[in-house]
Amino acid sequence: MDRRLFLKGSAAGAILALAPGKLYSAGPGRASFSGDFSKAAPLAGRYHVVVCGGGPAGFIAAIAAARKGAKVAIIERYGFFGGMATMGYVAPISEFAFAGERVIGGIPWEFVQRLEAMGGAYVEWPKGNVDFDIELYKLCAQRMVLEAGVDIYMHSSLIGCEMEHDIVRRVIIENKNGLESLSGGIFIDATGDGDLAWMAGVPMQPNPDGELQPSSFCFVLSGVDTDSALLRRYMYHSGKKGSSQCTPVREKLLELKQKGADLPDFGGPWFNSVMHKGSVAVNITRGAADSTDNRDFTGNECRLREDIFKFTDALRRNFPEFRECYVASIAPQAGIRESRRILGMHTVTADEYVAGVKYPDSVSRGAHQIDMHASKGSGQVLIKLQQAAYMPYSAMIAGDFPNIIVAGRCISADRKALASLRVQASCMGMGQAAGVAAARCLEEVRAVQDIDVDALVDDLVKMGVIL
Ligand SMILES: Cc1cc2nc3c(=O)[nH]c(=O)nc-3n(C[C@H](O)[C@H](O)[C@H](O)COP(=O)(O)OP(=O)(O)OC[C@H]3O[C@@H](n4cnc5c(N)ncnc54)[C@H](O)[C@@H]3O)c2cc1C
Repeated sequence: MDRRLFLKGSAAGAILALAPGKLYSAGPGRASFSGDFSKAAPLAGRYHVVVCGGGPAGFIAAIAAARKGAKVAIIERYGFFGGMATMGYVAPISEFAFAGERVIGGIPWEFVQRLEAMGGAYVEWPKGNVDFDIELYKLCAQRMVLEAGVDIYMHSSLIGCEMEHDIVRRVIIENKNGLESLSGGIFIDATGDGDLAWMAGVPMQPNPDGELQPSSFCFVLSGVDTDSALLRRYMYHSGKKGSSQCTPVREKLLELKQKGADLPDFGGPWFNSVMHKGSVAVNITRGAADSTDNRDFTGNECRLREDIFKFTDALRRNFPEFRECYVASIAPQAGIRESRRILGMHTVTADEYVAGVKYPDSVSRGAHQIDMHASKGSGQVLIKLQQAAYMPYSAMIAGDFPNIIVAGRCISADRKALASLRVQASCMGMGQAAGVAAARCLEEVRAVQDIDVDALVDDLVKMGVIL
């Protein structure tokens, strides 16, 4: 029997020391191991569905699969759900509606309504952008996941997987208990970076020129005059007032840069409501880095942390609305716009996406314009959608891997299509589809490639998905 264990980086060393066996190469940064590793990473639980990553795609996927009757585990390396929303301070949740009509429904929309009822969300029409309170977001997501009966493994990093041919048998996690493993029938990769798919050997989208959209380290500024005309005009993103980036601040900062001020490249800036008087989440910093390379990403975060204070100082000095402002909190990590994406059975192209091509296996929607940030400088390319876009199930699975489904930012899409479908409402929609598809695989006892897609679509529509 061909049983292999794929491990990320240094974790390989830990397991190999405990369970010596035969080591052979499986590409850069990955080690593959054969032997008895059950003692090194004891089984912590057996599940029908294991979801890796608790961001917008992951926590919704876990709820969806559990509500369909599956026994579900979710693995998250931080101590809370929400991914970029809560670990990256990325706001608002974009976009639930196209031309004033809501196109994303079911559990994602239920989440927004519950958060709204808790006083933690404000929906801006006609785009259906959702401002939110970061801490209430975490609480609401946690409640819904626990209510669905999902077992949660927080503070746990996915570091490896045990493969039998192309089937994932177990995932290996690392937390304060040491190394543990979870077995499962279907595994959903919602890590944003496609960590599980990559460890399992799923082919990834080529990126010949190495270009990536930049990362941005977001932060909360307090002491801001949020009642001022400037902030009231630019803090909300309904689309009713044109551009959401704060043009007066942008122009002034560009002018200062031109005059030689020590200001780094920046994006926007965008000042986003966190639903509290005096505070805004700021998206302004920009740094090109590969989030799947630890040293590159760490170096980038260190530079951007410096930049946060440079920009705060410039805001204080040049704008009365920011005179009293201070950095109240920096996100736990820099935000990632682009990294690994699988090479799936179908790759969504920007042409298909912008035209709103409807696939026979459409399972989710997208409403945000294509929003491509330049890796260097302050540029950004925006392309409007002709109609709300569709995401096919075949972009969430790879040909040769019978029990892996991918949801969220790491699905199979070209760079331009990604620049729209990466937004949170779309990722939640994909998560919902992945969770229901996983439950269907188990019900039908079929591989992810072989399930009855019409039945999947029926299930989704019954849950309120708008296809
Ligand atoms: C600066 C910036 C601005 C943006 N602006 C907007 C915007 O205005 N509106 C909008 O809707 N979207 C915006 N986005 C996009 C959006 O936030 C993300 O694309 C979206 O959150 C992706 O969702 P996801 O669930 O696929 O991944 P993520 O949100 O990245 O979630 C992945 C989760 O998996 C966990 N994880 C990852 N690896 C592991 C591992 N090995 N082990 C355990 N856990 C792991 C992470 O901790 C995280 O919780 C922006 C993104 C950035 C970076």
